[in-house]
Parts: sequence; structure tokens; C-alpha cells
Amino acid sequence: MSDDLLRDAGRRLDAACELSDVSDETLTRLRQPASSLKVSVPVRMDDGSLRIFPGYRVRYDSTRGPAKGGIRYHPRVDVDEVTTLAFWMTFKTALMDLPFGGGKGGVTVDPKGLSMAELERLSRGYVAAVADTIGPDVDVPAPDVATNELVMGWMADEYAKIRRQSVPAVITGKPLAVGGSHGRSTATSDGAFHVLHTLREQLLADMESPRAAIQGFGNAGANLASALSDHGYRVVAVSDSSAAVHDPGGLNIERLREHKNQTGALTAPPVGEELTDPDDLMGLEVDVLIPAALEGAIHEANAEQVKARVVLEVANGPVTSAADQILDDLGVVVVPDILANAGGVTVSWFEWIQNRQGDRWDPDTVNTRLEARMVKETRNVAQVAEERDVPLRSAAYVVALERLSEAMDATGTAAIFSDGGG
Ligand code: NAD
Repeated sequence: MSDDLLRDAGRRLDAACELSDVSDETLTRLRQPASSLKVSVPVRMDDGSLRIFPGYRVRYDSTRGPAKGGIRYHPRVDVDEVTTLAFWMTFKTALMDLPFGGGKGGVTVDPKGLSMAELERLSRGYVAAVADTIGPDVDVPAPDVATNELVMGWMADEYAKIRRQSVPAVITGKPLAVGGSHGRSTATSDGAFHVLHTLREQLLADMESPRAAIQGFGNAGANLASALSDHGYRVVAVSDSSAAVHDPGGLNIERLREHKNQTGALTAPPVGEELTDPDDLMGLEVDVLIPAALEGAIHEANAEQVKARVVLEVANGPVTSAADQILDDLGVVVVPDILANAGGVTVSWFEWIQNRQGDRWDPDTVNTRLEARMVKETRNVAQVAEERDVPLRSAAYVVALERLSEAMDATGTAAIFSDGGG
């Protein structure tokens, strides 16, 4: 599965190269990660036994600045998955024109099987294992699947102990009390909302109350469900790894969030009906389908069921390249992950700036700057798509690739050296 992901990422790079005039050297450099670290994280379990968890940190590219990317806890994490996620981060930071490269980390673990104390020891152990390769000017981690601000707080604290000094800018997504930024916890969903809103005129102009279905009811998915239902969308279905809930008239999202907070799952929901097969969510009659869980959710075998006009990729890599082609043939517009979910890394950048300046921005400043950046880059992608007559994903990759190429060429090209350096 994850080696397929990596191959898919390579295919998207090839496709973007065909549409833009970038140097061969850029391509050569972007074909592999700059560094890839595998570590073993020993954790003393509550019963006294010792377990070793495999961990990874991949720095894909740092030409435009320090690597930036989250840390994922999931049983499926392996080096290929982390490398693919780091590749996507490289394109995402370039697309948003942030002064970062791309990185990613992860631990192969089922976090639901750990106690809180074991989770803390794992998080501190992971930082101890990768401490020599991260830092505010080198590689700056953040949250991803199953890691949250509590985990980021433990990690920042552990890094400070190792360095014997406070270094808040080493990691973003921290609690506010230890240098986090206002707006970080809803940044991904707020960003996705701004992207959809910017494209609404073009994609959903005739709809008064567009219907949305969201796969994944975690940080990104649940916050986006709230934002959409607060802004006149009808969220008719949501799912998590336990169940999918459906009500064609629109779900009460706040009731579902309370239920999920209290019980830890969407099973036996207080509103709507549980779908017998949660995967049926993908084929519901909706206007916007939002995969916000994991990679590969829409694939060759289920893409034809999609009835939505728009797929908004809040997860990273939820549509495989085979499914992309099928959706394109069906006339479904896919808003690509590197744009749709870039609000998270954008507010991470704000947090990094605040930490380095010893400043704290108020919520309005964060929200205004986030909205401005999301709207600007969304318009840019839409314009390139129109000018070159290509899908939004191709346009997003072209914009990112050209920025990466410009930075790489500025560090020296074969042409400069063969011209004698003049
Ligand atoms: P999370 O762990 O908070 O939530 C993930 C959700 O997906 C959970 O509700 C889980 O139950 C659900 N899920 C897992 N497998 C599922 C399945 N088969 N069907 C339905 N639901 C399933 O994670 P998150 O931070 O919300 O991240 C979700 C996605 O968004 C990931 O792809 C992540 O890389 C991407 N993303 C997150 C951020 C961020 O800031 N959190 C930023 C950019 C991209």
C-alpha cells in the first residue's frame, strides 16, 4: 500500500513536469528524500514490560527553508508512507509560498492500545531518538493523525530538557500556554473552509445549501463539519473508524461531537442513522465529498460510485491517481490536498514566527492572515488551472514545482557551471 503511495507521488511529479518548464536537476533532486532516519523507541509499559516501537523522521527537501511536517501515530506507519507524506509537505509549503521545505515523522503504533502515561513516554522517547535531526532552523515537526497539542507539548518539553534551554520554535501545534498559536487547532479546517468558499462561486454557484459528507471525524473533519454547518451547508453524513452516521436532512454536528467526546466513537449516535456499511458514505447523493481520514480512501474500485460535484481533499492523499482519472472522466472536480489542507501548516508557520519573535498574535490577526493566504493561493491555483486548461491538482503541482525549481536553480545549475560561472 505505502509503496504504491510513493509510486503515485512520483507519477504526480512526472505529470507536473510535463506541464512546466523546470530544469532536469530539479526533477533529479526531487526524486528522493534528502535524509531518512529510522529509530527504535523503547517504552517502559505500565505493567513493567519493555516494548520497542519503530519510528521515522524524513526530511524530503530543505531548499526553501527548514523541513516542516507532522508526526503520525498509526499501526500502518512505515518508511514509504512517511516519505510520501514528506514529499507532499514539500509541495504544500511551496504552494503556500512558506519559507519551509517538507518533512514528516511517524511511529508504528496503535495509540488506542496505550495508556496516557505510555503515550507520554512514547512521545518523549520519540523526541529523544530524533533530537539531533530536528530544530527550529532544520526540521520543525507538528501534529498529524493521532497526535494532538498535548503530545506536541510533551515533545517540546522533552526537547527543552535535552537542549537545556527553552526552544519553543522546534515544534508547532503546542498548547497555548507553552507557546502555541491561537487558531492552530482549527487551522486545517478553517483553511479548507476558505478554499471551498473561494471556489464556491465557480463550483457550487447555484446551490443555496450544499450537502456535504465527511469521512473522518477527528481534528480536521469534525472542526470542518462544524464550520460548514455554521455557514449554511447541510452536513448529511460523517464517519470515523467505528461508524458512519447519515441524515439526508442534515446532522446536528454539535450533538455528534459531544457524543464522540463522551464515548470516543460515533457508534450508537444520538442523531441520524448508522449506515450498515460505512464505506457507503462515498457514494451518497451529496454536493461536496470530503475525505478527512487517511490515504487511499477513494480508489479505482469505488471512484465510480462518487456522486458529488466536488471532492475536497482534507486528508493527505485520499484520492489515488487511478481514482483521479475516473473522477475527472465523471466531471467531478477534485480540490487537491496540498491546497485544501494547507491551513494547518500555514498557522504552524505563524506559530513558528511568534515563537522566534517572542510574540503572541491575537485570534483576529491569525484568522485574517490565514484567510488572506488561503484565498490568495487558491485564486492563483484556479487561475493557472484555467490558463493551462488543467485540473486543479495539476495546477497546484505546477505552481509548487516552479517555486521549488526557482529556489533550486538559485543554488546553482549545470548551465551556470558549464557557462564558466560568469
Ligand atoms: P485525527 O487522528 O484527529 O482524526 C482522524 C479521523 O479519521 C478519526 O476520526 C478516525 O476515527 C478517522 N478514521 C480513520 N480511519 C477511518 C476510516 N477508514 N473511515 C472513516 N474514518 C476513519 O487526524 P487529523 O489530524 O484530523 O488528520 C486527518 C487527515 O488530515 C490526515 O490525512 C492528516 O494527514 C490530514 N491533515 C491533518 C492536519 C492537522 O493539522 N491535523 C493538517 C493537514 C492534513
